[in-house]
Amino acid sequence: MDRRDFLKTAGIGGAALFGAGKISVAQEEKKPVEGGIQKYNTLGRTGWRVGDVSMGGGGRLQNPSIVQRAVDLGINYFDTAPDYFPASEETLGKALPKVRDKVFIATKMCKFGKYPQHLALHTPASKYIQCVEDSLKRLQTDHVDVLFIHAIGERPTNDAGEKDVERLRDPEMLKATDQLKKQGKARFLATSSHGPYMMAEALDFAVECGHIDLIMPSWNFMFEMRRPPKDEKKAALKQKPEELRKVLDKAKEKNVAVVVMKSIPPIRQRAVPEKLEGLAAKDPEEKRRARLAAVKWALLSHPAVCTLVKTMKTVEDVDFYVSASGQKLTRRDQERLREYASAISRSYCLTGCGECADACPKGVRIPEIMRFNMYYEDYGHERMAMEHYDGLPKSCTAAACANCDAPCQAACPYRLPMKTMLAQAHSHLHYA
Ligand code: SF4
Ligand code: SF4
Repeated sequence: MDRRDFLKTAGIGGAALFGAGKISVAQEEKKPVEGGIQKYNTLGRTGWRVGDVSMGGGGRLQNPSIVQRAVDLGINYFDTAPDYFPASEETLGKALPKVRDKVFIATKMCKFGKYPQHLALHTPASKYIQCVEDSLKRLQTDHVDVLFIHAIGERPTNDAGEKDVERLRDPEMLKATDQLKKQGKARFLATSSHGPYMMAEALDFAVECGHIDLIMPSWNFMFEMRRPPKDEKKAALKQKPEELRKVLDKAKEKNVAVVVMKSIPPIRQRAVPEKLEGLAAKDPEEKRRARLAAVKWALLSHPAVCTLVKTMKTVEDVDFYVSASGQKLTRRDQERLREYASAISRSYCLTGCGECADACPKGVRIPEIMRFNMYYEDYGHERMAMEHYDGLPKSCTAAACANCDAPCQAACPYRLPMKTMLAQAHSHLHYA
């Protein structure tokens, strides 16, 4: 089943370059590498022919040989950040001198340090520029291809009550990026969001505004295949994927590139394997096939999707994810995804959902904690997850959940056992 068939079956509708200075966008057309990337898509108005599977550097990229393996297999888009701390940019930088002209590099305009180090609204242009200059040094390159305004919507507003989405049109940010583009140190502007606030709103603004060339949402089959709750919230919930799908429609229309993240919802490796009756319990290989089906779904689910970023910690990971490149979604894959959705439906907190974001009277940041625990428990990025959690104000951690009768649970339309999940998250994530 190719993308057209997939869309039909699922019932789914449906460069202008900046002053790039000395940088040429000429790129040789790729031929598929044996066992490597089989499909290249045009990355919106950037014009770059990007492999459909790309590498994310969020999970402590620490070995340059993994980057080299990825390049050998035809991966040509790498996503990193200064606050993928401490070594993601440095590791990529060690591999870059040999391969720089073959790859597109995306980094974030953040300070170096433990996540999150996003630059706040009204940060002076000079600080934006300094952060990018520091990234260039760590990356050992004279330019980056994409600069991200990172993770819009982790908080609804700043302390002055200004909406987080304002970061996308901050005059200081625009002044800085304009200067960096004129100097040939950066080429394109992008933004990412995994909610929990205003994901669709922020990305819609990004697509409309004209100065943002690429968006990166959380997007996976659970947005559409999760069993809907049988209650009055069903209608409201159905709107969420529809809102995001409308943003993707508009991105396609306006030639804004879409790179997706969080494309594989966790099949918990350690925590609840007994729940995966339809998958791992029958055949361990099924779990791997289901993960590949999730990758294929993300790539075929909407024509605006150019590529997805996946953290790859080992050479085996690179080979594994690349094996999904250019592949069709089979009927068996669709069955796998239905089983997958059913298996995790009562344990998976959908990144970007955010329905419970304001449900705790004590101010516990529920969706963020759930996301950090996903990094810990499902992605195996323990240290990074603990550092993220440590970055929350103490009053917003799940320490407050111990003696609580959990009024928050009423806010979750999927009836997740939130108190238990939050307690487990706290036991994993807090420094003893
Ligand atoms: S269990 Fe209580 S303290 Fe914890 S998030 Fe829910 S309402 Fe807040
Ligand atoms: S706990 Fe429930 S309501 Fe809250 S973000 Fe997760 S899925 Fe949504």
